[in-house]
Amino acid sequence: MTAVSRSNHELIANAAYIGTPGKGILAADESTGTIGKRLASINVENVESNRRALRELLFCTPGALQYISGVILFEETLYQKTASGKPFVDVLKEGGVLPGIKVDKGTIELAGTNGETTTQGHDDLGKRCAKYYEAGARFAKWRSVLKIGPTEPSQLAINLNADGLARYAIICQENGLVPIVEPEILVDGPHDIKRCADVTERVVAACYKALNDHHVLLEGTLLKPNMVTPGSDAAKVAPEVVAEYTVRALLRTVPAAVPAIVFLSGGQSEEEATLNLNAMNKLKGKKPWSLSFSFGRALQQSTLKTWQGKEDNVQKAQAAFLARCKANSEATLGAYKGDAAQGGLASESLHEKDYKY
Ligand code: 13P
Repeated sequence: MTAVSRSNHELIANAAYIGTPGKGILAADESTGTIGKRLASINVENVESNRRALRELLFCTPGALQYISGVILFEETLYQKTASGKPFVDVLKEGGVLPGIKVDKGTIELAGTNGETTTQGHDDLGKRCAKYYEAGARFAKWRSVLKIGPTEPSQLAINLNADGLARYAIICQENGLVPIVEPEILVDGPHDIKRCADVTERVVAACYKALNDHHVLLEGTLLKPNMVTPGSDAAKVAPEVVAEYTVRALLRTVPAAVPAIVFLSGGQSEEEATLNLNAMNKLKGKKPWSLSFSFGRALQQSTLKTWQGKEDNVQKAQAAFLARCKANSEATLGAYKGDAAQGGLASESLHEKDYKY
């Protein structure tokens, strides 16, 4: 039995829509600090006008929104407009895209652990969700972070983060927002793919236990996990291997009531993330949910590098963004042919140690 009834229908419909095969999520919800790092990498100043210009470039790329079902925004962006004065929320809605909103307030270290964290932001979350719904948001994101170490993740970190995600999820649903449940296990470390699979299974299983305990309506949620891969300091494996391990871990732990699983890219190169997603969708066998993308870095990197903050480069940068959107759309159908790698840019590793969002 779920405690939510007011808007079950709307939650279920919106979650299912986001999981429409052929479409996925653009994560453009970098906090002001994180977008600052991106802009610094192309020598562009981190001011409101430049953050706005980058988001306009993305949202207004001709043809791109057909491949996208949701865009996650940072609070500032939810209220911004195009240069010609049209609210971004309207641009997205007219393109058939649901606006989403990042609602967590970042991580804080857990005393007595080896640098493990929990995510903050539950205070006044209900009020904020209601305000964001008013402004047009229909789904939300909350990122929990776990890491793999000799004795990590600890049971304390697994339990606290699962509970935090569940509490966030039910508050979102009470306010009409579909919660994206994101328990990100960082890729940092020398571990092999088997260890990542084992940790992913333990973490995701704990999340669904907590979501059920908190009476969350699973049909009105989405899961945003890491793909199951070897650690960043271990040798890479083929997309088919990532696909097999990832789908198996999720089959064991994610209820069939969940409509879609939308992966984060987690520091993979653009091309790697697309090829891995494609391999999962090509994999034969039982898959009760759609498998799609909610990429940040892996949708924006070549676009950012091509843009360089210059008006003259906008068209070329938009072509790069369109290519990545189309490639990932094809990957959700297992139909990507590997033809979107652009001049090496799309193959650059995007890994940052101890990634903050
Ligand atoms: P990446 O795809 O860059 O990992 O980011 C997605 C995201 O939204 C992290 O919370």
